[in-house]
Order: sequence, then structure tokens, then C-alpha cells
Amino acid sequence: MHELSIALSLVEIVEEAARRAGAERVVAVHLRLGAMSGVVREALEFCFPLAAQHTLVEGARLEIETVPLVLACDPCGRDVQPEEGSFRCPFCGAPSMHIRQGRELEVTGIEVPDPEPAMEER
Ligand SMILES: [Zn+2]
Repeated sequence: MHELSIALSLVEIVEEAARRAGAERVVAVHLRLGAMSGVVREALEFCFPLAAQHTLVEGARLEIETVPLVLACDPCGRDVQPEEGSFRCPFCGAPSMHIRQGRELEVTGIEVPDPEPAMEER
């Protein structure tokens, strides 16, 4: 299951970003996942908490935004969104392999806890 290795590298990326931000914990991870990324969302959601164990990311929510496949259709001269599993333009029926979007697998943001309110002076 390659989703586990993907989850492990995600956790690595997120941990590094969190460290750089001086955070001790991550509460949420935002991810863009393309329909053609080759990653099974459910499998990734399953693996993520396992990969996050004993890291700063442990217990973080994984918020996945799915990016649909968009192809550039030459005859139509525009970007089109084919039906699931299809590489044909829904307007003219021409096949296209010009993928405009849909291969994404990227962390778009992380959430860290709000800083503790400063201790009040006595
Ligand atoms: Zn077309």
C-alpha cells in the first residue's frame, strides 16, 4: 500500500514546517489531492494517523480537498472536465492527454494551536 509511504512523507513535510514555525503540535493539515494523483483518499485517511504517531502531527485532522481532473481540449480550445474515468472532452468527444489539473498532491496549509495567552503580571 503506497499510501503509507505517502502519509509518512506528508508527516515529515508537515513536521518540518511546524518546527520552522516554532509550533509544538499540529492540529490540522490541509491537502489538495488530484483525482489523477494515483492516491486513494480513503487509504490515505486511514494511513495518516498511523504515520503521525509519535510526531508533532499526532492527532491532527487531515482535511482533503479533492481536485477534479481537467483536460485541455484542442478542438474546443478550452479546459474541460471529463466524466470520471474518461479522457474525452464532454463537448466534442475528442480524447485528450493534456492534463491541466488533477495530479496534485500538496500540502496547502497546516494549523497549529493558538499561542498560549501571555501570563498576566501579578
Ligand atoms: Zn472538446
